[in-house]
Amino acid sequence: MILCHGGTERIPCVSVPPWQYRLNLSMLIFVFMDTDFLIIGQGLSGTWLSYYLQKENRSFLVIDNNQPNSASRIAAGLINPVTGRRIVKTWMIDELLAFIIPAYKELGNELGIDAIELRPLIDFHATPQMKLAFEERLSEKADFLFKSPDQNNYTDLFNYDFGFGEVNPCYVVNLKDIIPAWRKSLLSTDQLLEEDFDMNELQQNDSHISYKNIKAEKIIFCDGVSSSASPFFKNLPFALNKGEVVLIEAEHIPAPFIFKKGMMLTHLEKDIYWVGSNYLWEFEDDRPTGQFRAQTESLLKSWLKIPFKIIDHKASIRPANIERRPFVGLHPFMRNVGILNGMGTKGCSLAPYFAKQLADHILYEKGILPEADIRRFSKILMR
Ligand SMILES: Cc1cc2nc3c(=O)[nH]c(=O)nc-3n(C[C@H](O)[C@H](O)[C@H](O)COP(=O)(O)OP(=O)(O)OC[C@H]3O[C@@H](n4cnc5c(N)ncnc54)[C@H](O)[C@@H]3O)c2cc1C
Repeated sequence: MILCHGGTERIPCVSVPPWQYRLNLSMLIFVFMDTDFLIIGQGLSGTWLSYYLQKENRSFLVIDNNQPNSASRIAAGLINPVTGRRIVKTWMIDELLAFIIPAYKELGNELGIDAIELRPLIDFHATPQMKLAFEERLSEKADFLFKSPDQNNYTDLFNYDFGFGEVNPCYVVNLKDIIPAWRKSLLSTDQLLEEDFDMNELQQNDSHISYKNIKAEKIIFCDGVSSSASPFFKNLPFALNKGEVVLIEAEHIPAPFIFKKGMMLTHLEKDIYWVGSNYLWEFEDDRPTGQFRAQTESLLKSWLKIPFKIIDHKASIRPANIERRPFVGLHPFMRNVGILNGMGTKGCSLAPYFAKQLADHILYEKGILPEADIRRFSKILMR
């Protein structure tokens, strides 16, 4: 059998008389697809990695099963630059914001959508101690923190006893449009297969990988929680974390803000708002629970002064890890197998930045930030 190369297809040709050719070809045709990269998963990580590889004119194929409750399809898309009781800056936030805001704007322009929006966070202090902590940080002139002189701004809409602070800038990434729009674009150019990836079909050797009829230079896993059970990466210190959200219908809540009191509330579309989330380290499955719904309904009844109706309730599992740092890079002992994962609670800010680092690493051998590089786990990945 002779392999005929035609574009990205390799078609087996057989030396047969011409009159038999049509018959034999239809019986024997077996199309190989050669591509530079096979990417598993099209959540935030797979979206951004494929975007940067496309910008470098490299060929790739994404396989994604469109799981409706994957983390990127449940998240609100919030980017809050501060965290914790001390209200300190999150890891690398200045550097991340400088990179990701233009990145989301550029992606949005290409897809014809508003990909990122500035929305200050109105943080209603839940206790006098939390108010004190906020004011202490204000007196230290901490970045991102402000206090409005009119503490009665929101008394028509919300119950709050201890005033509020403002975190600004905060952002909301338009995940509900970005993920489907990028998917549509990949489907239109035959760069995405909508199916389950089956690890049993993968063959990996020193020079390339093959999967069914696909041959690629490298395979990169962007498959969120699935990698925690993968033969290549299950030893990474994943610490999966479940989160639930409800969607409510309500009127008159000003859309250009994120509101917080125990939970976050932010505008999604029309009269629909996203409310969440909780963080569970121990859980039995990825399904919504009656307990969360009851607790959230009770919280909303005491917090909102306006009528609302719960119209949906969802749950997902965050691909989080013990160190709260991403997993980025090529497997230290299998250089044609890579990963972009471990985004935890911060996929919106981490995924674009580290997707670019991974693309530059793969294509130009540039370095990956050591705190994110999976080579930090070389010993456990050897097992
Ligand atoms: C309730 C909740 C709220 C959140 N809110 C925020 C927030 O406001 N801001 C923020 O920054 N982060 C938030 N996060 C975290 C954020 O969602 C994640 O960090 C991020 O989405 C992870 O993206 P990912 O692409 O790495 O993984 P995923 O989003 O899990 O994507 C993995 C993809 O791989 C596909 N896949 C998996 N296995 C297979 C297989 N075998 N075959 C084919 N396809 C497969 C899935 O369908 C999916 O499309 C939240 C998470 C949750 C659960």
